[in-house]
Amino acid sequence: MRKKPKTLAEHLFLNNSYESRAEYHRAMSHAQQIIYEQFANRPQPFSGIQVQELTSQLDQFEVCPEEGSDLADIITRAGQTILKHSIAVHHPTCSAHLHCPPLIPALAAEAMISASNQSMDSWDQSPAATLLEEKLIRWLCHLYGYTEEADGVFTSGGTQSNFMGLLLARDHYIKERLGWHVQKRGLPPESSKLRILCAKTAHFTVKQSAALLGLGERAVVCVDTDEHMRMCLNDLDQRLNELHAQGLLPFALVATAGSTDFGAIDPISECASRAKHFGMWLHVDAAYGGAVILSDQHKHLLSGIETADSITVDFHKLFYQPISCGAFLTKKAIHFNLMKWNADYLNPEEDERQGIPNLVAKSVQTTRRFDALKLWISMQTIGRAQFAELINHTIELAQKTAQLISEDPQLELINKEPSLNAIVFRYAAQTAANEPAALNKQNQLNQSIRQALLQSGQVVLAQTKVGGMHCLKLTMLNPRMTMEDVKFILHQVKQTGELLELQKGEKEGHAQKHS
Ligand SMILES: *Cc1c(COP(=O)(O)O)cnc(C)c1O
Repeated sequence: MRKKPKTLAEHLFLNNSYESRAEYHRAMSHAQQIIYEQFANRPQPFSGIQVQELTSQLDQFEVCPEEGSDLADIITRAGQTILKHSIAVHHPTCSAHLHCPPLIPALAAEAMISASNQSMDSWDQSPAATLLEEKLIRWLCHLYGYTEEADGVFTSGGTQSNFMGLLLARDHYIKERLGWHVQKRGLPPESSKLRILCAKTAHFTVKQSAALLGLGERAVVCVDTDEHMRMCLNDLDQRLNELHAQGLLPFALVATAGSTDFGAIDPISECASRAKHFGMWLHVDAAYGGAVILSDQHKHLLSGIETADSITVDFHKLFYQPISCGAFLTKKAIHFNLMKWNADYLNPEEDERQGIPNLVAKSVQTTRRFDALKLWISMQTIGRAQFAELINHTIELAQKTAQLISEDPQLELINKEPSLNAIVFRYAAQTAANEPAALNKQNQLNQSIRQALLQSGQVVLAQTKVGGMHCLKLTMLNPRMTMEDVKFILHQVKQTGELLELQKGEKEGHAQKHS
């Protein structure tokens, strides 16, 4: 006879009972098996399923039935409907977004993070985790060339880190220049004059942050880019002069170290000298490019980053961590005082006086995941040298891909000399060249190619627009990708392009005959 559980919930929560241990083991091994069968083992990156079909499959699940049923059955069903129709990020022909395959050590760490469920807002909810996060933050500050005065915090990603950079930049400027305390008094009367500068290729979250910070999108002044898609310094100087002549108050300059579309790296040192001269806060958005600091071959791309007042770095991109994982660093720990709150139940001032550490005062989140653990376990397992090799491989692959595309008359390379591993290109329509509606036709064709490939499930590419042109994008994060995969992808692009052109030609011919 089966032993009766000690309490109603014995088998539902992790604890020291036999029932709990057996249940946890069964749940985790079944989940592992289904992840393998329905996800890791997939022959192509996407099933190609259509929205309507997937919607109706999901409609068969009740969200909260009156009585529960067997976990193994539910995990199996989740595998058959969810994992099976998920994007296989590890597949070498999935090369669309800044969306990485996660490292196995980090996957093991995720199990420890969720099982231990530490919350990073107070010492009494995360003692060891608080110290480990602090340790990783010190390592990161050192890595990016900051001194002992620096500090930082883990975030949900680049969006939050950029927001924090611009929040501190705004409040620091307003305090120092206008003698006004934003946290207490809200925005000062001069706030409509505040301006942020960034390249036009900067991430959209610069504008989003400006809007959230009560400055409005119009506070963001976009600087032109040069032929390498980097911020153009002449244009920056011109904009700065204009802003000052108009009596406006540029308080922050955002340099991007790895633009989302092109992987372009703005000239950081030159930005730093402008920021210093004009009394602006320099924020470096290294969400994408930050990882190259670990590569002896490529870290020069980030030179000058140590001069930034704050830095965004994402670990769920080129650091190969499962989502979510990022950090925000600032050159001077003292800046965090601008956004600090004390809550009696979390970090009362008495505790702080006793030296009890708490991280909540450095974050815009309260309850927060212990994401530092997965980065720590990954870095220890892989080591700096092998990590650098992974990144070097992807950059070399991107350079070879750029070469291949530039030699192909059917394709057109948009970012001529990629510094990281993003490639923007397009299929050059054979019939469109001299027609007046050529651009439209090209655009439609490139959009259709991407859609058709996604629908086939064989290749997942991204898209973007460059000066009115619809382009295709390969973000080559996957260290398991080879030139064979690249050749396969480009072949599929061209074959699909030819087929679509042919079909369109036939349709038009048909329409003419019948008009
Ligand atoms: C991805 C990205 C962001 C946004 O980061 P999330 O982690 O998606 O919030 C910001 N800036 C750049 C340059 C990025 O590539």
